[in-house]
Amino acid sequence: MAEETKAPYRVKVPDIDYWRGKIGCQTGCPVKTDARGYVIAIGEGRYEDAYAIARAPNPFASMCGRICGCPCETKCTRGNVGVDTSGPVSIRALKRFATEQYGVENLKDLHKSLEYSNARGSSRPVLDKEKIAVVGGGVAGMTAAHDLARLGYRVTVFEELEIPGGQMATGVPIYRLSRELMNLEIAAICELGVDLRLGVSVGRDVTIPQLREEGYKAFIIAAGFMAGRPSPTPGAEKLRGKGVHIGIDLLREVNMGKPYHVGERCVVIGGGNVAMDVVRMTVRTNVIPGLSQLSKPKNYAMTDISRVLASKAKTIDCIFGESRAQMNADEYEIEEAILEGVKLHPQTWPVEILGEDHVTGILTKKVKSLIDATGRFNPQLIDGTEKVIECDTVIVSIGQMVNWNFLTGIEDLAKTPRGTIDVDPETLQSTNHPDVFAVGDIAVGARLFIDGIASAQKCAVGVDEFLTGKSFKLVKRGYMRALPIVNYGMPDKYDAFIRQEPPERETHSRAAGFDLVEFNYTEKAAREQGMRCLRCHVNVVFDAEKCILCGLCINICPESILKMVPVTDVTGDADVAALIEAKYGVPQEELLPDDGTIMLMDGTKCIRCALCAKICPMDCISMEAFEYEESLVPVETITRTAFPPVPTAAGYKS
Ligand code: SF4
Ligand code: SF4
Repeated sequence: MAEETKAPYRVKVPDIDYWRGKIGCQTGCPVKTDARGYVIAIGEGRYEDAYAIARAPNPFASMCGRICGCPCETKCTRGNVGVDTSGPVSIRALKRFATEQYGVENLKDLHKSLEYSNARGSSRPVLDKEKIAVVGGGVAGMTAAHDLARLGYRVTVFEELEIPGGQMATGVPIYRLSRELMNLEIAAICELGVDLRLGVSVGRDVTIPQLREEGYKAFIIAAGFMAGRPSPTPGAEKLRGKGVHIGIDLLREVNMGKPYHVGERCVVIGGGNVAMDVVRMTVRTNVIPGLSQLSKPKNYAMTDISRVLASKAKTIDCIFGESRAQMNADEYEIEEAILEGVKLHPQTWPVEILGEDHVTGILTKKVKSLIDATGRFNPQLIDGTEKVIECDTVIVSIGQMVNWNFLTGIEDLAKTPRGTIDVDPETLQSTNHPDVFAVGDIAVGARLFIDGIASAQKCAVGVDEFLTGKSFKLVKRGYMRALPIVNYGMPDKYDAFIRQEPPERETHSRAAGFDLVEFNYTEKAAREQGMRCLRCHVNVVFDAEKCILCGLCINICPESILKMVPVTDVTGDADVAALIEAKYGVPQEELLPDDGTIMLMDGTKCIRCALCAKICPMDCISMEAFEYEESLVPVETITRTAFPPVPTAAGYKS
């Protein structure tokens, strides 16, 4: 709440967003999952409650527990305190622990998972509203379908491929995400009455103008970045298909169970997550020509073939212009790739792909710099560092882009310079085709899987507003609930448990197959990890009227986050000035340092031990839980939209 400035402390009067912002995991999650709620529930052994909380805002909670990039963990307070530097609460892995017991993977009745949703509408909707077409059956498109079907819209999802899931099905390796699990979450959404049509390409088999004539009233483009960016390296085009392949195509073929030949010595160009997936997949992939008749698409028969052949010797070299520290891939993925035998070549540039009828090698140079003084991408190479890496396969993994096939008939659809559809950021509605909306990568650029879900939820509201003519507003409500200090207690050893990652398959057995690499926590481990949560909704609230300035709370605080300063040492906005004037009867500028004292607290580091509250001889410190709820309400029905700040006559709390 306070930071050192020339004043020297800048403070603010807390409001609903301040209290909410202290729960870092929830504010860090694009769909605002109450991660705090489910990790606490796991720590207490309430596993169905945990699943209910995790599933409420997210129809892909089970997949999320396996592959989410977990921005919640980046914001988790446990990763920021002094008593334990082992890292944030394992929020993603704990979600998996909950979903494995109560999620679609363990439900006989898929429909039951729909009943945990907190999206508007019903899990048994009457589908009598307008027809809506969704282009693309990935997580973003299916989430939009989920939210709109719950409201009674008749939603048809057109998926170009013969399998659902979009990029999750074609771009995420099987060893990271079970296709059965993905299909179950999609099947659950179809239980709402969503019509999922596989193998139908909008643009090729049917066009948006034709669908308009068939009565569809809104279109949601959820096409994703499904095409790989070709390499500008000399030789790449000439040798395309003769040893040069596009990485995202490789992942798609492998993930769809199709045979895909890679040679004995592979070089991957690129250092992002897709490149890491490609190199890790390549370790597992060695299909020889002629085995195609053995493949069984959709059954992933190739994984069996690969296991048989994976013992064959192979080299995988990954070259990229960035330094090792600048790699645009998750550290976890990089480490895993290295463990699985991939050799990294940082600051290495592909100068030319060599070969006449087939790839024989790649000429590289070391990189001096990638960005010039004006901030432009302008690689500078070091002469005299030429080196040839001999290889028979080059896999290009330098980026992804949109496949614009769906534009047939609406070619004038406005786009941004970034290559996305130009949409209103609040409603995700096209700026020049009012009945067209966009979600996921094609609307907001390449981001995390969970960002795609969040954009789809926002889009569903936009579509509903467009079709009903109503406007909706988010109404927030919150209040403080005092907790009894006598019995107050965090879980036993909550501050001593360190972060433990879920167990993983032995490295030597990974490259031989496509089995999932990560296992689930044991129950004991999950409960301990859940108990690490610092319950950031609990706040330390001071009653300034009772305080005798003894300083006992400051001395006992294990995180050293409490401080008393003269009233003249703080500064803030008009609300702070008004509060000080109300307390002291004169403007702050007229006060002397001895006229008053302010208690400051760095709320981002509190571990909720309550030692301060327990030691206070005047009972002027309370531990109070912030309770919060929000809902979308039609604008005309709103009577109260804001939660007032909580100033007291004596000062301000926390
Ligand atoms: S400590 Fe708990 S409540 Fe706080 S951010 Fe982490 S998971 Fe959320
Ligand atoms: S509860 Fe009180 S003593 Fe414990 S860390 Fe928070 S401010 Fe410090």
